[in-house]
Amino acid sequence: ATPTALLVGTGRGSQLGILIGGPQALERTRTVDTIVLDKTGTVTTGEMRVAAVSVVPDAGVDEGELLTLAAAVEDGSEHPVARAVVLAAQSRDLDVPTAEQFAATPGAGVQAVVDGEVVVVGTARWLAGSWAVTVPGALAAQVAAAEDGGGTVVLVARGGTVLGAVVVGDTVKPEAADAVRRFVSLDLRPVLLTGDNEGAARSVAAQVGIDEVHARATPASKLDTVRGLQAEGRTVAMVGDGVNDAAALAAADLGIAMGAGTDAAIAASDITVVSGRLTVVADAVRLSRATLRTIR
Ligand code: ADP
Ligand code: MG
Repeated sequence: ATPTALLVGTGRGSQLGILIGGPQALERTRTVDTIVLDKTGTVTTGEMRVAAVSVVPDAGVDEGELLTLAAAVEDGSEHPVARAVVLAAQSRDLDVPTAEQFAATPGAGVQAVVDGEVVVVGTARWLAGSWAVTVPGALAAQVAAAEDGGGTVVLVARGGTVLGAVVVGDTVKPEAADAVRRFVSLDLRPVLLTGDNEGAARSVAAQVGIDEVHARATPASKLDTVRGLQAEGRTVAMVGDGVNDAAALAAADLGIAMGAGTDAAIAASDITVVSGRLTVVADAVRLSRATLRTIR
């Protein structure tokens, strides 16, 4: 029997709640020595909540109007930031208009036309780089402070003018620190990889015990990080859930998708953890190593 047949055949794979794409997936877990973890939705719950809304004083909108515009655009997105913004607008009973010409840029933000004007919601870097907007100094300072505090911050611009910022917060999965301890005891080097800002990344890394952090990653640079580790001679498992992780998941020696993740992440992966529990990843590595030992 192939190792996969053995693992699945004993029922342990399904007991663990993992779906295995093929026999090669299990064999690769034997040699994996590095585990790259996406942050949002993988190490954290991905159930983001709006923590603060801040408007540029002379931009002519109040907090409610800013949230209304942001929610109109984010209504087209499945991203955790989008869900947080839409939920906040709903809980404030805001009357959110329908947006047109929605488009998303993975790892950066979203855009749409609202009441005839282009509204953009996303990272300060994306707005400054791709939309050539100027971020007022006072707002930039607020953004930096919120990021240092571990928040995820998106800016909202309309017609090329920055109106304000929305700060959202996430929580680490309850089992995440335990899972990281188990990775280390299995001699897997943990690496946190995220499109989010440095402060939010560092905050999560500190909570779960990861030292190596790569923040502000685009989908392309996530792929580069995996390839860079492989070029160092590492055998890399990548765990992710988003469209932004798909290329890195496919390039990794072992791609592991979280069950609640996007179809793109699941399709790009060798293994799917149905429950999304991170400790299951450690269980799968331990079990497959033990299984391979047994059949030798
Ligand atoms: P992660 O790697 O942590 O899963 P992503 O690559 O999905 O994060 O996103 C990186 C950053 O891009 C987010 O922290 C956010 O600032 C911005 N972003 C992505 N999608 C959206 C969206 N729908 N609305 C606003 N900002 C977004
Ligand atoms: Mg993610």
